[in-house]
Amino acid sequence: MTRILIIEDNQNNMYLMRFMLERSGHQVLEAWTGEEGVEVAQKEMPDLILMDIQLPGIDGLETTRMIRKFECCEQIPIIAVTSYAMAGDKERALSAGCSGYIEKPINPETFMIHITTFLGAKEKIRGNPK
Ligand code: MN
Repeated sequence: MTRILIIEDNQNNMYLMRFMLERSGHQVLEAWTGEEGVEVAQKEMPDLILMDIQLPGIDGLETTRMIRKFECCEQIPIIAVTSYAMAGDKERALSAGCSGYIEKPINPETFMIHITTFLGAKEKIRGNPK
């Protein structure tokens, strides 16, 4: 079973993502702040992390940097989920250590396609020890 950690402070987004992921057979872990997300990531080592960027307290970029500092979490795909529309935000997310990017509002038509693609890329890396 695939375990996916959602770090998100908006209830509607959390429920929507949780619903779609669970319907597809994934197990969901929730964190509502960056601080909580860092703790859960280190403890649970999920297969994938969905990272809201605008969070109360430390933001998603800083949360990503903190998670990446743990050796156990270096390889976990972290997908930024953000409504930031300005040029450069995608680059900022990637340079903070995110592996990819999903735009808000979340599109139920394409959300699971993105998730499957990111999980598939991870399996490919795993299958090739080089
Ligand atoms: Mn938010």
